[in-house]
Amino acid sequence: PLDKNELGRSTWGFLHSMASYYPEKPTTSQSQDMAKFFNIFAQFYPCEPCALDFQEDIKKHPPKTKSREELAKWLCERHNTVNVKLGKPVFDCSKVHERWLDGWSD
Ligand code: FAD
Repeated sequence: PLDKNELGRSTWGFLHSMASYYPEKPTTSQSQDMAKFFNIFAQFYPCEPCALDFQEDIKKHPPKTKSREELAKWLCERHNTVNVKLGKPVFDCSKVHERWLDGWSD
């Protein structure tokens, strides 16, 4: 069966990497598609309580997809909302590219 923490760790890795490699200047259609991606992702993430809370969170804070910078920051903030809910430390979003684009490892 799925391990919620293992799934979470891998999924965040995928999502933050995707945001860090998203175009700096996306086309209108890329920007619309990325917003759709997160709405669909939130429906089908295979941890139901996680998905329900994430749906609520992105209703309040819709995906910001007009640039790499904006998307990476938005996603970092969404992850921090989950971190706070789980009592984990808040991540410094100014370091998000250092973590997910330029590299550092854990
Ligand atoms: P993770 O939180 O998985 O983070 C992995 C790595 O990302 C960290 O080591 C750090 O280097 C980096 N990081 C941490 N914070 C940030 C940030 N804000 N921005 C960028 N990088 C960061 N678990 C539950 O128990 N309940 C839930 O409701 C729940 N909801 C989730 C919703 C989503 C959409 C996802 C993807 C996961 C959810 N999880 C939930 C899983 C949870 O967020 C963690 O993945 C899991 O607890 C394992 O945590 P971890 O300590 O290994 O680090």
